[in-house]
Amino acid sequence: MNFAFCKASAAAMVFTIAFGPSVMWIFLLWVLSLFLAVTVAGNRGNNPLWAALWALVFGPFGVVIALLQPIDHARLERAQVNTGAMKRCPACAELVRPEATRCRFCAAPLATGTAPGTDAETQRAGALSDAIPPHLRDRDRRP
Ligand SMILES: [Zn+2]
Repeated sequence: MNFAFCKASAAAMVFTIAFGPSVMWIFLLWVLSLFLAVTVAGNRGNNPLWAALWALVFGPFGVVIALLQPIDHARLERAQVNTGAMKRCPACAELVRPEATRCRFCAAPLATGTAPGTDAETQRAGALSDAIPPHLRDRDRRP
C-alpha cells in the first residue's frame, strides 16, 4: 500500500467521521423533498418534472415552490375524465359522476356512460343470481 493511497483513505475516513452523518441527513432531506415536491405537483395538476428539478436544486424550498404554484384545474379535470372517474356534461361542460343520469349543475339529462348490466356491481349481482338454482331464485320475487 503506497503512501498516497494511505493519505487518501485517511482523508476519506476523516471526512466521513466529520461530515458523514450530516451529509446523510441532508441527502435524506433532499430525497424526501423530491418525493414531496413531485406528489404536490401531481396533486395540483402541475408538471412533476419541474417540481423534481426545484427539489433537486433547492431541497425543501422546492416543495414550497411547488406549493406556491397555482392549481391547474383544467389539467386535473382532464385527468379525471381520462381515467373515467368523472365525465363531462355535454350541456354545461361541468364534471359529473359517470353513473349520473342527470347533470347536478344544469339538470340536463345525461346518457349513462355504462350500458345497463355492464358495471361491476350489476355483473356481480348477476353472477350471484346465476349461482342460485332457478326454483330457489324465483321464490323471493313472488309476493
Ligand atoms: Zn350540465
